[in-house]
Amino acid sequence: MQGCCFLDIKQVRTQPLADPVIQNSLDAIVQVEMAGLCGSDLHPFFGRETGLDVGTVMGHEFVGRVIEVGPEVTNLKVGDRVSCPFSTNCGNCFYCNIGLTSRCIYNQLFGWRQNSQGLHGGQAEFVLVPNANGSLVHIGESISNETALLLGDNLSTGFYCAEMAAIHSDGVYLVIGCGTVGLLTILAAQYLGAKKIVAFDLVPERLKMAEQLGASTASTEEAALQEIRSATKGRGADGVMELVGLLPAQEFAYQAIRPGGIMSTIGCHCTPNFGFSPTDAYDKNITYRTGRCPARHYMDQLLPKLTELPMDIGSLITHQFSLSESEKAYDVFSNRKDGCVKAAFSFG
Ligand SMILES: [Zn+2]
Ligand SMILES: [Zn+2]
Repeated sequence: MQGCCFLDIKQVRTQPLADPVIQNSLDAIVQVEMAGLCGSDLHPFFGRETGLDVGTVMGHEFVGRVIEVGPEVTNLKVGDRVSCPFSTNCGNCFYCNIGLTSRCIYNQLFGWRQNSQGLHGGQAEFVLVPNANGSLVHIGESISNETALLLGDNLSTGFYCAEMAAIHSDGVYLVIGCGTVGLLTILAAQYLGAKKIVAFDLVPERLKMAEQLGASTASTEEAALQEIRSATKGRGADGVMELVGLLPAQEFAYQAIRPGGIMSTIGCHCTPNFGFSPTDAYDKNITYRTGRCPARHYMDQLLPKLTELPMDIGSLITHQFSLSESEKAYDVFSNRKDGCVKAAFSFG
């Protein structure tokens, strides 16, 4: 098969690889129809996250069809069309049972191999999926590849971020970072009842999409603060949803939040310290919520609701590439060329 492999910082290449084979009785093999490029793929791509083995297939977002199952896979059969969360889930452990599937004790992230251990990713013709019973979601035939792809990561993460912010209809909310997950967080917050959302980003195309979703937009922190203060008699935001994962974004979130507000962060922070101190948190009675989205849990909740969403979320995938165009795909996506919001490989 062919797969888009990590070679070095800012270097990926589509190259021939051995087809995956069933290794365990709970494994399945999926033939990929569409694979997403995600902001998290850019952490190793830019060298912000280190340790990824050379030759690892990139990506953790994929949709496809089951072509082979191990003898203990009972929830799925060959031919089923499936979506997958970005990490595997057993479906039986304490964490899977309480809905915190992202902390499954057998949890493994797709597209992360270190010291020859771990899983190849979804940006290939075929993917090996361990713990297939608990990981794969049978999606039927009616959902588009684009929507099913977002269900496994970005849409679920948007709902998780919005739910952690305890949305209510009278609240005023700030969303920091309007990439695909930020835009889907806006959509989720509205679905949960939010009427006033201020969206902050530096990229005009993203703000335009946030505006189309019904958010007020701001391209400077000052403008966002002004908008929030004027909507709250100067108090600040009831909830801040932060999707950037960098300290300046956290500092801004702290500035914007009102006393007693909730900061919901799904931006993947890689720093050892907070952008605000314990004293700062105490002085504003801040509630801080964070962590990797339990995507498998959310997929089950959201699958029946997809038709209720106010827009075709698949349209957020603005750019599609063939697998042979991996260098171009990473260039366009990582540099946000040509108004790219979200990119995917399509195996048509
Ligand atoms: Zn992702
Ligand atoms: Zn589990």
